Amino acid sequence: MVREQIEARGVRDPRVLAAMRAVPRHLFVQEALRAQAYQDHPLPIGNGQTISQPYIVALMSELLEAGPGMRVLEIGTGSGYQAAVLAQMGCEVYTVERVKELYLATRKRFTQLKYFRVRPKLDDGTLGWPSEAPFDRVVVTAGGPEVPQPLVDQLGDPGILVIPVGTSKRQQELVRIRKEEGRVVRESKGGVAFVDLVGAHGW
Ligand code: SAH
Repeated sequence: MVREQIEARGVRDPRVLAAMRAVPRHLFVQEALRAQAYQDHPLPIGNGQTISQPYIVALMSELLEAGPGMRVLEIGTGSGYQAAVLAQMGCEVYTVERVKELYLATRKRFTQLKYFRVRPKLDDGTLGWPSEAPFDRVVVTAGGPEVPQPLVDQLGDPGILVIPVGTSKRQQELVRIRKEEGRVVRESKGGVAFVDLVGAHGW
């Protein structure tokens, strides 16, 4: 998976590659889909949601420039796979999920697999996690029409936020926002296809 899908497409961050090799992706999908866990596509995880394609998880992790000891806020826990990869990279991960069934199942998975560096929460992630802010990094693994302002506000300085942004379903541009010395710089990192970010704003 790492050699053919991730290195071949240009991901180079050694921490990301090591984490993708270490985290057992088959334990983050339903048993019936385990044989497909390392294939080059997303998979359903229930409740109309998906675990992202392995390459997309690697790309997001690389764009974050994440490293040991960083406090990372993730919106869209889902299966917990992205959070586990970031924890494997040494980050302290705060992850928010709005679907109760997914939150409960994944919380149990974090405990069973001993991902003690991940703190899950059931909430609307477009509001962030104000009591734990600021964060060194913020990653959103669902796509909405704009960048929720609370997430920009809760990003530290310096800080990096990675989020898919787009108005049409499952078609967004991957946006990276850098906060540095009081300035906020936004760059586009190409097209992606995430499930919807469901916000309190009636999106
Ligand atoms: N990072 C996940 C990807 C899951 S798909 C993984 O590695 O498996 C995106 C997830 O975002 C879904 O579980 C969906 O329920 C969740 N989501 C969508 N809108 C949300 C919101 N406003 N707050 C929190 N989670 C949200």
